[in-house]
Amino acid sequence: MTGNEKLVSTLAETCIDFVVANTIPELAEKMNRLTGDSSVQFQNLEEEIFHWDSMIGRGKKFHNDDQLRRLDQLRNYAGDRFRTCKPQKILDREALPLIAIREFILTRKSLGGIETDLESRVLYRNGKVIPGLYAIGEAAGFGGGGIHGKGSLEGTFLGSCIVTARVAARSITGKSV
Ligand SMILES: Cc1cc2nc3c(=O)[nH]c(=O)nc-3n(C[C@H](O)[C@H](O)[C@H](O)COP(=O)(O)OP(=O)(O)OC[C@H]3O[C@@H](n4cnc5c(N)ncnc54)[C@H](O)[C@@H]3O)c2cc1C
Repeated sequence: MTGNEKLVSTLAETCIDFVVANTIPELAEKMNRLTGDSSVQFQNLEEEIFHWDSMIGRGKKFHNDDQLRRLDQLRNYAGDRFRTCKPQKILDREALPLIAIREFILTRKSLGGIETDLESRVLYRNGKVIPGLYAIGEAAGFGGGGIHGKGSLEGTFLGSCIVTARVAARSITGKSV
């Protein structure tokens, strides 16, 4: 098995959102215990897993599952191939234990956010400045003022977060920072 085993075992030991089990009923039971309800029905989970594993078992030319197609597509690009494991049966003895991870929805790189002017001052909807209120970084769409235009890419965001923090500091203090 490849992958970052140390990271997985550290998360399993320390992160409450990581649920580890050796069987599907045990996994479902632990998932429900974590969320305090019974929304995970182990029969449904089992059905999905059997469907997934049998699709993989039939061989690549029969992969008409949308998730498998997307994984195959991702793995065509070298950068994604490096971090996306190839289709793998879930109930594979060599790959146990089963791990479920509770997720929370977040947005990132929305390029939206609080509207500011080029001094990082927050604006009302009518474009007027709200005195004394500043926004920078990701909260301000990575800098506000459409700093990235349509050319934003991975790796270009942190810079504008720092730049707009400096712009705000300069605007607040009146000094060059
Ligand atoms: C997975 C991931 C990968 C990324 N990779 C890249 C990359 O390769 N290159 C790149 O340029 N950018 C990357 N980014 C984007 C970049 O890291 C972020 O845009 C940048 O760190 C945002 O900086 P920020 O200071 O605006 O916000 P944050 O770093 O989110 O800082 C906001 C801070 O405010 C704190 N906070 C929130 N609410 C409160 C409160 N009520 N009171 C007090 N504090 C509060 C938070 O705890 C946090 O410390 C990545 C982002 C993610 C999530």
